[in-house]
Amino acid sequence: MTTGKTMAFNRIALLIVLALTSCASQRAAISAGELRNHVSWLAADEQEGREAGTDAAARSAVYLRRHLDAAGLIPAGDNGTYFQYFDIAAPSLEGASTLMIGNDVFDVNTLSASPAQTHHAQLVFADADDVEDMIVLAKSDGEIRAEVREAAANGAVAIVLASDEFVAFDAVPGKLPIAVVLIDIKLYEKLTLDVFNGKVNVRLKADVQKQTKRARNVLALSPGISGEVITVGAHFDHLGWGGEGSLAPGTYAVHNGADDNASGTAVLLELAEMWGANRGGPVVANRGVLFCFWSAEEKGLLGSDYWVENPTIPLPRVLANVNLDMVGRVAESKITVGSASTGDCFGEPLAVMQAYYAANEIDFKLNIMKGSLPGGGGSDHMSFHKKSIPAIFFFSGLHSDYHKPSDDAHKLAYPQMAVLADGLAEFIASLQVVADGFEYHKPQAPVDEEGEVRHVKRANVWFGSIPDYGAEPLDGGMQLSGTSPGSPAEKAGLLGGDILKQVADVEIFDIYDFMDSLSTFNNGDTIGVKFLRDGEMKTTQLTFFPRPVGSAGRPH
Ligand SMILES: [Zn+2]
Repeated sequence: MTTGKTMAFNRIALLIVLALTSCASQRAAISAGELRNHVSWLAADEQEGREAGTDAAARSAVYLRRHLDAAGLIPAGDNGTYFQYFDIAAPSLEGASTLMIGNDVFDVNTLSASPAQTHHAQLVFADADDVEDMIVLAKSDGEIRAEVREAAANGAVAIVLASDEFVAFDAVPGKLPIAVVLIDIKLYEKLTLDVFNGKVNVRLKADVQKQTKRARNVLALSPGISGEVITVGAHFDHLGWGGEGSLAPGTYAVHNGADDNASGTAVLLELAEMWGANRGGPVVANRGVLFCFWSAEEKGLLGSDYWVENPTIPLPRVLANVNLDMVGRVAESKITVGSASTGDCFGEPLAVMQAYYAANEIDFKLNIMKGSLPGGGGSDHMSFHKKSIPAIFFFSGLHSDYHKPSDDAHKLAYPQMAVLADGLAEFIASLQVVADGFEYHKPQAPVDEEGEVRHVKRANVWFGSIPDYGAEPLDGGMQLSGTSPGSPAEKAGLLGGDILKQVADVEIFDIYDFMDSLSTFNNGDTIGVKFLRDGEMKTTQLTFFPRPVGSAGRPH
């Protein structure tokens, strides 16, 4: 929160900036109707959730290009086009995996998560004293990931896993550390006997054929005189029909991604049009603005990461990044601003944005966080941090539709999104002229009372809280914006607006305390949770149980 003293200081700077950017205030306001049109198109079932590398994502890219071209922006992708192409991993194909003992060759199966490798080594039981550089033999209890990790941790180079039931090629998501082949019980019994009777050397081949697909970023420039640019970005891809990033386990349905991130895409497209030569454009500014529609964010920030590694405008000319990811749930007229501390350059533009709302008597609140969201926020601004470029993040918060098929267009608050977009126009125009402050400051890591950096511990259990990142409860605590459906938190009766104060015997001052507390519990534990509801301290009992399978999730 800004103190009175810095406010007064900011106001002087603000007057100067307002004088410089008065043209910004004369731009036509962004309309809720146009935002709704863009989101409705992008998040329609026909666009199939815009998964990177699919035809649906390509259609969305063409939609963006059409609007950018009509607005008179300059293509800023590969070879004078709006697109920048890059390869992403596609689902692997199963090849012919084998296990050879002497001259006997056995057909075996593998997993898409296994590395494609061949090993020639001694076969030993997984619980042998020394398995270093050997291939281990084990019978699976169904916890394949844990079994493979354990063998790898013990130094094994590969694992032969037996299972009573057929295990599908794609049964284990993600990547496994060592090669895996799967065998049936009959072969397991034979191998068990062989290993029991003496030294057995085997040749193991896990044949996994990696595939790639092409994805594309969409890039458009509003040029400036100096050649320097401010990048403003939003990812337009989402989860397609579900898969690894989905929080709706076992569901095969279009994940529409209206808030995540058709909302940011629509706002960015309207801003880009505002800066386009055919729509009046800005009075040519000193610095240009590069509008970046990233793909494959959901697969690990791949589009923005590819761009910073292969920039279409040299990185020394890129002064700052503004990231819009999930900006549609703004019905309460507030937005969380993360990572503002990574550049002093953001101070004045944020003040300009607030002054614009104040001057027009618009009720819209910026919750400017002192540091970053936990984990940095997990979105495309982090690709710029990696290159020591200041990058700021606008985010309206998590909700119970996050990464589910129910993240639909009708749930967004379009009038308030338009208000946000108008304020962002002021923000960007200000960033085009702000004098300096483009030196990068590392995101502030959370520190404890002694000033030591706090590391977030991994939770053992699923709580099901949806934190309200924008809320900063006066006397500490972690405010919820809701709970995940079917979660322990929901079953315990917790609601959006509740402020968690104590979890078992751990007092909660902020989200880091909360995450730390979860590292000490196990499934089946029942604990007391103290929370404030409407100013009143309450207590409830919460019992941990496992999250349904297939709902592994990562923010954004
Ligand atoms: Zn997402």
